[in-house]
Amino acid sequence: MAEHIHDCIVVGAGPAGSAAALQLARDGLDVVILERGNRPGEKNVMSGVLFTDKLRTLIPDFHERAPLQRAIIGYEGYILGEDELLRLPALRRYREDVHPPHLFTVFRSQFDAWFAQEAVDAGAELFTATLVEDLLWQNGRVAGVRTARGDLRARVVIGADGVNSTVAEKSGLRAPPSPDEVSLIVREILDLPAEQIEDRFTLRPGEGVITLFTGTVSGPTGYQGSFYTEMYTNRDSVSMTTEVPIDVLLACGVPAYDVLAARERHPHIARLIRGATLREYQAHLIPWGGVPDLGCLYGDGVLLAGDAGKFTNTYGVGSWPSMSSGTAAARAVKYACEKGDFSRDALAVYLELLDEEEMVEMQREAREEWADERRQREIVAQRPEHLFRIARRYYRDRVSEEKHPYSLWGEAYHSLVKPVAPCIFAGRWN
Ligand SMILES: Cc1cc2nc3c(=O)[nH]c(=O)nc-3n(C[C@H](O)[C@H](O)[C@H](O)COP(=O)(O)OP(=O)(O)OC[C@H]3O[C@@H](n4cnc5c(N)ncnc54)[C@H](O)[C@@H]3O)c2cc1C
Repeated sequence: MAEHIHDCIVVGAGPAGSAAALQLARDGLDVVILERGNRPGEKNVMSGVLFTDKLRTLIPDFHERAPLQRAIIGYEGYILGEDELLRLPALRRYREDVHPPHLFTVFRSQFDAWFAQEAVDAGAELFTATLVEDLLWQNGRVAGVRTARGDLRARVVIGADGVNSTVAEKSGLRAPPSPDEVSLIVREILDLPAEQIEDRFTLRPGEGVITLFTGTVSGPTGYQGSFYTEMYTNRDSVSMTTEVPIDVLLACGVPAYDVLAARERHPHIARLIRGATLREYQAHLIPWGGVPDLGCLYGDGVLLAGDAGKFTNTYGVGSWPSMSSGTAAARAVKYACEKGDFSRDALAVYLELLDEEEMVEMQREAREEWADERRQREIVAQRPEHLFRIARRYYRDRVSEEKHPYSLWGEAYHSLVKPVAPCIFAGRWN
């Protein structure tokens, strides 16, 4: 009997893979999702904020059905000294002009399982506990996957298998990311009763806030780099993530757990999490800086979406870009199936579809920002006081502009705080 050939195999049931499978199934294509975890989401980590830009177009009533925690009403930001703290202007919007609200905290273990089920309900087949180990090739084209449970064939394979993508590596499309292209993010979830969360963070039931801290890390080598801690309010727990670029950790010679311990000793953070009990620790890599060449996102019989294709924006947000790139990949597969051509030339349509989703521009910005940040790090190391003065002035000018509050904050945080964090304690705020 001839071996069955699926239209598409999607590797990975994260947001990119489930968005791709949902779109393919809705388009009537024969699609299989392969997920290494025992259930979707089991292996996945996110600080916790779901950006719903793409989700609301895929599933307009998601807010009534998806497992959401709290709707985010604002951001707060602090610069941490040893035992001091500088509070940056905070923004809260108590009345949302968008319904449903734009941002929600979620647990990936719950959200990914729900989202994958949406794809299954639309007609996709899902196999869990199935690790893809290699690709199958035929006439120089990817023709399926090899798993510990057997081989599976398809016209196109979508690699939606995250930052350390097996599909990217085995297809030869993209080398594994280098240390300056990934950050290590450690996350802990601390149980705290809902009333205490609402009291300490000044929230009403159902409302959530994101609190951002930046500080410096230095170790035995004398090298000083910055870390970022973000605190997210869930229904009855608080998630804290700390991010340090891998090359900074290596240069400082500091283990990640030392950064965590120093952060939790800070009096302000200690007050916010007093009495909370640790539920679990997680750690994951996040890709930075986009891809150097968009041509590495597609090949003969293969496409990369989500973190596998480094679709995170300049702020490390990947929930919505992964869904957008997954949807674009699905549409490229549909186009190839209609043409009966699964070559790299035919699948190049992916770039046009990514462009329609504004993903080409996002990749370009992510690459530029990454290069800028590397330059800024060098300047900071050479002339900390000078840069600090410029940054402070820049920030003051920006604050006076009337802009959308979230983008104002995003811009202030990422253009001021991140680049200058290493020199703040050398130069001091005054
Ligand atoms: C700690 C952290 C915090 C973050 N915080 C945020 C945030 O607050 N908001 C936001 O928008 N973004 C955030 N991001 C980014 C966001 O989580 C990712 O961009 C997004 O999850 C990417 O989705 P994905 O589907 O491409 O990959 P993933 O979510 O990584 O999913 C990949 C899937 O593939 C599976 N898989 C991997 N290899 C194989 C294999 N060989 N065979 C079978 N299955 C495989 C995995 O088990 C997983 O289910 C954060 C990232 C990290 C690491």
